Amino acid sequence: MATSPANIPPTLKGRVLIVGATGFMGKFVAEASLSSGHVPFLLLRPGPIISSKASIIKAFQDKGARVIYGVVNNKELMEKILKEYEIDIVISAIGAESLMDQLTLVEAMKSVKSIKRFLPSEFGHDVDRADPVEPGLAMYKEKRLVRRVIEQSGVPYTYICCNSIASWPYYDNCHPSQLPPPLDQLHIYGDGTVQAYFIDGYDIGKFTMKVVDDVRTINKNVHFRPPSNCYSMNGLASLWEKKLGRKIPRVTVSEDDLLGIAAENCIPESIVASITHDIFINGCQVKFHIDGIHDVEIGTLYPGEEFRSLEDCFGDFVHMAIDNNINNNHKGENGGGVTTTTTATAGTK
Ligand code: NDP
Repeated sequence: MATSPANIPPTLKGRVLIVGATGFMGKFVAEASLSSGHVPFLLLRPGPIISSKASIIKAFQDKGARVIYGVVNNKELMEKILKEYEIDIVISAIGAESLMDQLTLVEAMKSVKSIKRFLPSEFGHDVDRADPVEPGLAMYKEKRLVRRVIEQSGVPYTYICCNSIASWPYYDNCHPSQLPPPLDQLHIYGDGTVQAYFIDGYDIGKFTMKVVDDVRTINKNVHFRPPSNCYSMNGLASLWEKKLGRKIPRVTVSEDDLLGIAAENCIPESIVASITHDIFINGCQVKFHIDGIHDVEIGTLYPGEEFRSLEDCFGDFVHMAIDNNINNNHKGENGGGVTTTTTATAGTK
């Protein structure tokens, strides 16, 4: 059920509106918002909702989140919502296909003049510095344009540059943390030595909610570079083998292979391939220093706070792989499903 402005209790914390809370990244942010005491308003698109999303929304509502129906590309409606619900902070985790809808949202925020912070849908690389081939470049051009429009609007902003989600970086999967790493063959991009940062979704949400009302992050790029979460493909492969307690054949996916998949322009797989190329061939996450006046590193802001280690995240994936195996065996698929060893289970303890 939608929330009426008249029923909203006063709050000491800024009022947060989250766009895209039913999506992959938005769920982490909404969860963290609830945990941090910023009880959020969730902007949901009107219309039929599939049952998996309905249960996500219900779980958030049960924890206190309030629902508002609307779309960000309706300026009048967004102005009304921002004013009536007295929103201070807007966080967008809108999907890649809707990035340009945020331009209307920025117009609405500029017009109401009361927004203290806007976090647009970034949650990846510093798009002004990263330079993927097409079709990833087209998405980055949209994110760059949204940045320029925000900067011109005068609305205070923060860009979350959280790098990669902690998971096996499949070159053809937008949401790789929903899958365990492979059990049969490990694809290594290039020579496997280029490093990248892998951040657990829980931490992306948690640190996003820390920066929203931190004055040190106004009009900054916030980079997530915890040294403990910096791995190469070779390092990730070794970590997974350690967790499973066995070796897995490694297969090289060359620069040309990735560029070939990107050139097929099959969306979204080719976007993921072009970004994978930028990360593991070009080194887009590590090839620049974060010492500009608009840069700040999350660890320097919150030195006492730890990030969840990849050791722990990959431990979860062992359980996920075993569960998938059991389910496949129950379904009788592939003549018995994938194999994990007894040491795999022991390795998680
Ligand atoms: P999803 O496609 O999973 O979710 C998109 C969300 O946006 C949905 O909740 C959708 O609502 C909502 N939405 C879309 N259009 C509108 C609109 N006009 N008005 C209101 N709500 C709308 O997105 P992702 O989580 O994949 O992507 C979010 C961001 O995270 C992107 O910037 C993406 O690039 C980044 N990302 C980063 C990753 C990383 O590893 N660093 C991995 C994946 C994404 P509905 O439920 O109605 O569809």
